[in-house]
Amino acid sequence: MAKKSNDEFKSTPRYAGIATFMSTGLVHDPAELDIALIGVPFDGGAENRSGQRHGPREIRNMSSFIRPIHHVTRLNPFEICRIADLGDVPITSPFDPEGSHTEIGEFYREVHEAGAVPLSAGGDHSISLPILRAMATDKPVGLVHIDAHTDTGDEELGSRFTHGTPFRRAVEEGILDPKRTVQIGIRGAQNCEEGWDFSLESGMRVIYMEEFSKLGVEEVITAARGVTGDGPTYVSFDIDSLDPAFAPGTGTPEVGGLTTIEAQQLLRGFSGLDLIGGDVVEVSPPFDPSGNTALVGATMMYEMLCILAETVAGRKGI
Ligand code: MN
Ligand code: MN
Repeated sequence: MAKKSNDEFKSTPRYAGIATFMSTGLVHDPAELDIALIGVPFDGGAENRSGQRHGPREIRNMSSFIRPIHHVTRLNPFEICRIADLGDVPITSPFDPEGSHTEIGEFYREVHEAGAVPLSAGGDHSISLPILRAMATDKPVGLVHIDAHTDTGDEELGSRFTHGTPFRRAVEEGILDPKRTVQIGIRGAQNCEEGWDFSLESGMRVIYMEEFSKLGVEEVITAARGVTGDGPTYVSFDIDSLDPAFAPGTGTPEVGGLTTIEAQQLLRGFSGLDLIGGDVVEVSPPFDPSGNTALVGATMMYEMLCILAETVAGRKGI
């Protein structure tokens, strides 16, 4: 697949055509890509409000607002990497969460083996577990996790595979290195303290919103980079990390969160890490009548795409 040129972006009206992530067009073979944009329409792990299964389609739609050249860095990810929409993970057993996770894992294994780096739109946060299973084939990976919640609970309502548990399972399965994991934006009352406790006791660095406000974005970036180091690192962005004033269309909104500009600056701060992929999860279109949450999700995907493209191009010597 050829890279998409600026002329192609400029010559097509952004409202026209079939919606794909960032108007890149649809590709079926991950071997043709450096970075694969993937939808994961699954919300069987959502404990409260659902609707995240509709996230990929709405993020695709709102991502038509995204233009290629970054206004701060002047980087054009589409110029340095082969990037396209690889479609949605086929979920054939949506009423079976663990079966769906198996399907998601198999899809990402193929992407990983083909040498493409995945950037995904969920879906609820439980999808990050099968993605990490496919990515961490050699050794446990590091994680930048931006979220209101630690998602390190042991179980919810009798299930161990929900959107509140993926990173605890990932540590237990030996695919996530808790000492190279940083959780940013944590807040909101809980029924019990076990998730917070697990994160701290396993060695994760947890930056609650209060500390975030006190340190400011730049110092948080420095602290986070100190945790991940230069080993392989995945980035997972839960849209509920943002204040619901900016992103109301999500399952578990928590007030007192990040602003959109803080989140954008934060993501830019991870430029140069050994990034192996990322996701934006928990956008729930049924709770997003204005479409703004999907636009914010698409924009965070674009910020991630820019830092991923730099890393991937550097790694491949493009
Ligand atoms: Mn989450
Ligand atoms: Mn959350």
